[in-house]
Amino acid sequence: MRITALAGGVGGARFLRGLLRHLAVNPSALPDDDGEAQLTIIGNTGDDITLFGLRVCPDLDTLLYTLGGGIDERQGWGRADETHSVAGELAALGAQPQWFGLGDKDIATHVHRSQLLGQGVPLSEVVARLAARWGLPEQGVTLLPMTDTPVETHVVVDDGEGGERAIHFQEWWVRHRAALPARRFVVAGLDRATPAPGVLDAVRGADVVLLPPSNPVVSIGIVLGVPGVRDALRGTRAPVVGVSPLVGGRPVRGHADECLRAIGVDSTSEAVAGLYSDFLDGWLVDEVDPMRDRPGLRLERRPLLMSSVDAAADLAGAALEVALDLRRHRATA
Ligand code: GDP
Ligand code: CA
Repeated sequence: MRITALAGGVGGARFLRGLLRHLAVNPSALPDDDGEAQLTIIGNTGDDITLFGLRVCPDLDTLLYTLGGGIDERQGWGRADETHSVAGELAALGAQPQWFGLGDKDIATHVHRSQLLGQGVPLSEVVARLAARWGLPEQGVTLLPMTDTPVETHVVVDDGEGGERAIHFQEWWVRHRAALPARRFVVAGLDRATPAPGVLDAVRGADVVLLPPSNPVVSIGIVLGVPGVRDALRGTRAPVVGVSPLVGGRPVRGHADECLRAIGVDSTSEAVAGLYSDFLDGWLVDEVDPMRDRPGLRLERRPLLMSSVDAAADLAGAALEVALDLRRHRATA
């Protein structure tokens, strides 16, 4: 059973950890003749940034640390039991920027990655090595960056003098907490990016495709922008089932509402589903969110809060069940 998921950082990682938990504790989660689950995750790299000469991949690292058991649970990103000696020394040196938190253990990841990239190793190969460090293969998980081509999301904001300027997505998100109204997003490198090895096959050859409740604009939306990915989703035989990141019309964490506003989309689960309407087969919305039925879309109402790993497992299990049901119907149709 090949399960493929597109993912950003925290929302994606928590959902997918829940999926692995669900599969581990429910031996009957998959039909008998489907064999073991193989999960391929296509991770967003639009958040990537070079800081202090180090290449940082926040979403991929959140996936690695969360699935590998090394995440700071409270923050949702970065390493557990982290220290900040290097950041303290960099601040004493006056090194910029100082708005991005980097812990010491986390920095080791970035040093290692930057060293390999500098030697010409493609990002997908670097990620495979990091995934081995975090025990992902043993869990049946393959993590792929969406592309090996450097891609960086920028946010166009007012420059305060009647014009506009573009800042890196991380500066907008972390430093300004999305409080500077975004006019639009510009993703440098995306139009000429090629999908990383295995990405299109993972979508085309999947039995089931899941969209975790990742940010629809700056996580899932960026992955969908890699040339070929959206077409692969439209063409795959696998049912595509997604989970809304909004509860009560608001993001559970982060600023997805600000991102949606910037692209002129309402902050509703119905409007988010509309962003995926050309390939979406199933959609999970919270019980409190209104949503009209849409022909060809299986709508499922569930509590969408991932308040614990078990809650995330229940949610992922529900999404998987919808997908498997759609798949059964297709097989008999
Ligand atoms: P990021 O890259 O770290 O911002 O993480 P993602 O893009 O993968 O996920 C961010 C999205 O996850 C946000 O829009 C949140 O609303 C959503 N999210 C976070 N926690 C939950 C949750 O418990 N339930 C649901 N449904 N969405 C969540
Ligand atoms: Ca992110």
